[in-house]
Amino acid sequence: MISKKDIRSLTEQEFKEILISNSFKPYRAKQVFHWLWTKSIYSFSEMNNLPDELINFLNNNFVINNIKVHKMQKSSDGTIKNAIELFDGFVVECVLIPTKDRITACVSSQVGCSLNCKFCATARLKRMRNLNPDEIYDQVVLISRQAKEFFNRPLTNIVFMGMGEPLMNYNNVLKSIDKITSKSGLGMSPRRIVVSTSGVPKMIKKMADDNVKFKLAVSLHSAINETRTSIMPFNEKMNLDELADSLQYWYNKTKKIITYEYVVWEGVNDKIEDINALVKFCKKTPSKVNLIQYNSIDDPSFVQAPKDVLDHYMQLLESNKIKATIRRSRGQDIDAACGQLANKNAR
Ligand code: SAH
Repeated sequence: MISKKDIRSLTEQEFKEILISNSFKPYRAKQVFHWLWTKSIYSFSEMNNLPDELINFLNNNFVINNIKVHKMQKSSDGTIKNAIELFDGFVVECVLIPTKDRITACVSSQVGCSLNCKFCATARLKRMRNLNPDEIYDQVVLISRQAKEFFNRPLTNIVFMGMGEPLMNYNNVLKSIDKITSKSGLGMSPRRIVVSTSGVPKMIKKMADDNVKFKLAVSLHSAINETRTSIMPFNEKMNLDELADSLQYWYNKTKKIITYEYVVWEGVNDKIEDINALVKFCKKTPSKVNLIQYNSIDDPSFVQAPKDVLDHYMQLLESNKIKATIRRSRGQDIDAACGQLANKNAR
């Protein structure tokens, strides 16, 4: 038996050519793609404007590898965490985060992660594979439906801050964003999308060259090479000088300011030298800082610094005219907060 092809791995044009060579009308491609991407229908038999022969042809030759909700958990603060089962049995997570004026989807881009940030639960999982564009897209569709179902509100924002390093799965992330933003998909504005990276300089430059329209966040956590390497070991190879250079390049091309994500830990980056280094780094390129709360992953070497240290950071950033905010964590009680996503990747 020939294995059936994942229909959503094809472009509409490729699919149209298959239809033509099998004597179907070419305009059917548009209809099928509308069901697949705009309506997110997961079975061919629901496509009720197609002739029976075409439905049979689709059933015999293609599959729709849609995601399935394996488990859904609700936090006391309204956050919803979904464990999603993929067609090959791997599990990734995506999170709906409700606030007063936003509903944000936090989506995963890889099964596991190839980077090794010491403070992140996902880093404990080996990178098993990249997600396909449709698997990323489906997470957004799922959360958009949950927003309507549980909050009676539309999805407003998307952040690539779930499992994985989006820039290590760049092509598929880009394809998923194309669908999320296109009229034949969800039609969302790219300005409502943030791609968060640990900082892969080569790919940041590539993104700038590709003239992407979404926002960029960089997980900085330290502006001192030695410290950053101790908590994010890949910094040894892709260090802060190279990162700063790529960010300058990004800004020159896109004119979009960069958000730095930054956690302050006791004894790691809570000294005045750390703050001064951050201020200096921020001055290189227009940027703002989100001081994010540390979410425990049961490692005693990482302890959130107390409020007065954060206040000190805030004071010095603000007095240097760098915008900064302190961000509260959401969904901690169900391990849905930043860095806590680490489902058992059961096959
Ligand atoms: N790989 C990408 C996206 C996933 S992580 C990146 O590194 O940006 C999303 C954010 O959560 C990053 O800023 C990351 O540094 C942060 N994070 C990871 N573990 C965390 C933890 N235990 N507590 C708080 N934030 C964490």
